[in-house]
Amino acid sequence: LYLQYIQNEKAEAVNHVAASLAHEVRNPLTTVLGFLQLIKSGTFPQEKTDRFLEISMEEIRRTEQILSEYLSISKPLVPFQQKLELTAQIRSVVELMSSYANMSNITLSADYPELPVYISGSPAELKQLLVNFIKNAIEASRDVDKGCVNIRIYEEAEQVAIEIQDNGIGMNPEQLSRLGSIYYSTKMSGTGLGLTFSYQAIRAMDGSVSVRSSPRSGTVFLITLPLAATDP
Ligand code: ADP
Ligand code: MG
Repeated sequence: LYLQYIQNEKAEAVNHVAASLAHEVRNPLTTVLGFLQLIKSGTFPQEKTDRFLEISMEEIRRTEQILSEYLSISKPLVPFQQKLELTAQIRSVVELMSSYANMSNITLSADYPELPVYISGSPAELKQLLVNFIKNAIEASRDVDKGCVNIRIYEEAEQVAIEIQDNGIGMNPEQLSRLGSIYYSTKMSGTGLGLTFSYQAIRAMDGSVSVRSSPRSGTVFLITLPLAATDP
């Protein structure tokens, strides 16, 4: 298994988001315009026209997704922080993602600690970053037999570790070295913004991420966050 620690400079690329965003949004707009022109020409049978409309709607949805991921990235680096119970947050994200896992024929499971685990962070950002990791793990395991994604949470030396493990397609060293770079995606309709946002949010919580992966045997992301100070 390869081991890689994520470098901090990656998220600095976020400053270039605005410039690239225009480019990202222009592509689907051009596609939609093209299809609308075809429909307007009136030379296609109803069946074809319906298909053109479907593609156009899909492209508009994709644009919406790009924009909302862009907005979550450009939020200030120091969001509202509060004391949070981590297990409850993870439970709700696992519940949220369970239908996506079912749809993809993947077993999503989690081992929760018995005692509550307190950390400090923004609940919205924490949820979003957990969704990103779990979504990636599900998407990576789609095409394997008996795909499964497991989440583990354990305390270690004033820190809490969250492990997100999948038995999916995995990554080679070249792919691992590009993780977290803005717009890096190997998916047909990926945005490559999920991990950029997630790494940034973890850093804002004074946490860190590491990843172990190898092609065809799966991936483990390890997120480490400091425990919240216990009140006197
Ligand atoms: P997106 O999901 O839109 O492609 P992300 O920033 O979430 O963008 O992920 C970037 C890339 O990292 C993915 O396209 C994929 O190649 C790789 N990746 C992330 N998580 C995993 C995983 N669990 N297994 C394999 N590859 C992964
Ligand atoms: Mg993703």
